[in-house]
Amino acid sequence: MIYFDNAATTAVTPAVRDAMLPYFTEYFGNPSSIFYSLGAEARKGMEEARATVAEILGCSPREIFFTASGSEADNWAIRGAALKSGKKHIITSAIEHHAVIHTCEFLEKQGWRVTYLPVDADGLVSPADLEAAICDDTALVSIMYANNEIGTIQPIRELCEIAHKKGVLFHTDAVQAVGTVPVNVADLCVDMLSLSAHKFHGPKGIGALYIKKGVRIERLIHGGAQERGMRAGTENTAYIAGLAKALSDATEKMEEKSEYVRKLRDKLTAGVLAAVPHARLNGHAEKRLPGNANFSFRFIEGEGLLLHLALAGFAVSSGSACASASLDPSHVLLAIGLPHEIAHGSLRVSLSADNTEEEVDAFLAVLPPIVERLRQMSPLYEEFLKGEN
Ligand SMILES: *Cc1c(COP(=O)(O)O)cnc(C)c1O
Repeated sequence: MIYFDNAATTAVTPAVRDAMLPYFTEYFGNPSSIFYSLGAEARKGMEEARATVAEILGCSPREIFFTASGSEADNWAIRGAALKSGKKHIITSAIEHHAVIHTCEFLEKQGWRVTYLPVDADGLVSPADLEAAICDDTALVSIMYANNEIGTIQPIRELCEIAHKKGVLFHTDAVQAVGTVPVNVADLCVDMLSLSAHKFHGPKGIGALYIKKGVRIERLIHGGAQERGMRAGTENTAYIAGLAKALSDATEKMEEKSEYVRKLRDKLTAGVLAAVPHARLNGHAEKRLPGNANFSFRFIEGEGLLLHLALAGFAVSSGSACASASLDPSHVLLAIGLPHEIAHGSLRVSLSADNTEEEVDAFLAVLPPIVERLRQMSPLYEEFLKGEN
């Protein structure tokens, strides 16, 4: 199996696994039980992990709060800010991950008003649109750093400055960006930022929310004093150690790795567009994640394509792993203006530094005949060909 679905999740590396193991056994103590060494070691490991994450993101360890996932960090940031502020308006974009969109929809049912900013054909939010949407009642702006389906990277600093000029908090879902491209919260000037370990070769089920000092949001889980009283529950020390190790490994030689991945991706993209007629690349040509390519092929169904590619040994996706169980076209592809029938024929390829040029060559050899075979079975394609003749 050739794995081209790194935006859905990534493999835990042996080094990350090894960093986690001691916290299941030797250092199994509760990090709140600091009077004996078992607990003290667990706490020490956790606080070292927090310091590592903070240093990489450019903040203080006191501003890092571990969560059980990227989804949890997104839910917390948005609900926590909405509840604390006393204001009743939230601004987000139409192409957010469901962890953001569905949280906003939940708040709408509780009486909040939500503005879903449109995006242009490349998937970019317009700073002018954001400025116009902010009002006295706006509690929070939440715009994702990089899109998980089409890879487009937003001008986060510029958007954040617009929110701050009007005194509004800014959160970014940086789950696709952290560990892949340099992310520094001080440079971005954001108030909150979500990340998730399993997108950068850490374990699933652990994430973090950066909350800038002085930013007040409602606590997530009531109970003990863990995570400075903001998220109760005995901390997942092993996974926290795994997150920090994975992030520190991802950050090492990041530029080299992303250059390598970008070259592979560009070869794949050029190869696909040259070999498959009626294909388009979705997302911004340059402002995109290095490993992301997202295509739409007219006259075919994404599900059929995924199935045939799986039979040929490729793990790819139609867009979002979270939406792939439903047959609705992706809200992201509809938001960039694709008609339903074209959005249906979409394919996301997401590479990591573990992929090779041979794998890309193998993909370029199998994809065009699969697309052609699927089109031969499509009545729409038949009609189209008749129209051409
Ligand atoms: C994967 C992802 C999430 C969810 O993270 P989990 O840790 O899987 O809950 C949120 N936002 C984006 C952009 C993602 O890619």
